[in-house]
Amino acid sequence: MKLPFFLARKFVAAETLEAALPVVESINANGLRTTFDKLGEYVSDRGVATSAKEEYITLIRTLDAAEGRIDRNISIKLSMLGQKIDEAFCVDNLHEVLTVAKETGTFVRLDMEGTDITESTLTIFERVYPEYRDHVGVVLQAYLKRTREDIDRMCELQARVRLCKGAYSEPEALAWQDMSTIRDRFLEYMEVLVSKGRFPGIATHDDILIDATRKYVAENGVSTDRFEFQMLYGLRSETQESLAKEGFGMRVYVPFGDQWFPYYSRRLRERKENVWFILSTMFKR
Ligand SMILES: Cc1cc2nc3c(=O)[nH]c(=O)nc-3n(C[C@H](O)[C@H](O)[C@H](O)COP(=O)(O)OP(=O)(O)OC[C@H]3O[C@@H](n4cnc5c(N)ncnc54)[C@H](O)[C@@H]3O)c2cc1C
Repeated sequence: MKLPFFLARKFVAAETLEAALPVVESINANGLRTTFDKLGEYVSDRGVATSAKEEYITLIRTLDAAEGRIDRNISIKLSMLGQKIDEAFCVDNLHEVLTVAKETGTFVRLDMEGTDITESTLTIFERVYPEYRDHVGVVLQAYLKRTREDIDRMCELQARVRLCKGAYSEPEALAWQDMSTIRDRFLEYMEVLVSKGRFPGIATHDDILIDATRKYVAENGVSTDRFEFQMLYGLRSETQESLAKEGFGMRVYVPFGDQWFPYYSRRLRERKENVWFILSTMFKR
């Protein structure tokens, strides 16, 4: 059964690329940066992975054709490119995407997914990174117990990292479960990334983490062009705009596409307010 799209509209720009383009264009026109994400994950069929690769390439070419009105910046999932089918096949697909990204001056962020593919994602990233240094970046999740080492691993490479808390359900053996520990880890990694990393993305809607980042960069003389904040489309839009007005880089992650259900359910799981929002939308119709 397919749920109606109006349920997801708060978090997902549109179901098609054509309908999503004006949404990102207006966010960019408002002084915010964007990263565009074609929704979908965990593909188990080679044909579907090949189509996903073609769609990512079409997306990059479409942004390029917008001639600067839209950021040349996208987020992709390796599980869409066949990572769970065959890593070599996935790497070939990724090379094709990154070749077009390099040719058009586009930045491609590899989203981080579940722990079944964390190490594979970082290994694939390290394989392609030397050839596409300015065009590919990765994500690290503060809730994972392994992340301290991954932070050092990525700082050593001077790879561009997006730091987030982590959105998947993971077992206690692999991931911290309580919010105060996750926040502490996030802050520890934020400090390393803004001091020693290369243009990290601090991806959170959490005021405690945003305020601590602002305090840390002010006290340590880290200029605002050394990092950026990142938030999701549809969440805390006023805060996004006010941080941008204060002079911080603010990038909005804008998802689109008809495969929106897993992304949408992660957003509902994160905050009860999101569930209330959806319920009120339903009752307003
Ligand atoms: C740009 C971006 C990219 C991401 N990429 C990935 C990825 O690749 N892999 C992955 O696993 N996860 C990713 N995530 C999701 C991330 O891991 C978290 O699951 C998600 O951001 C929720 O954590 P949070 O820190 O934003 O705030 P939460 O933990 O949801 O909330 C903490 C506190 O922040 C405040 N707050 C949060 N939302 C709101 C709101 N809407 N209005 C008012 N106050 C609010 C409240 O005080 C709340 O108690 C990404 C997140 C962002 C922003």
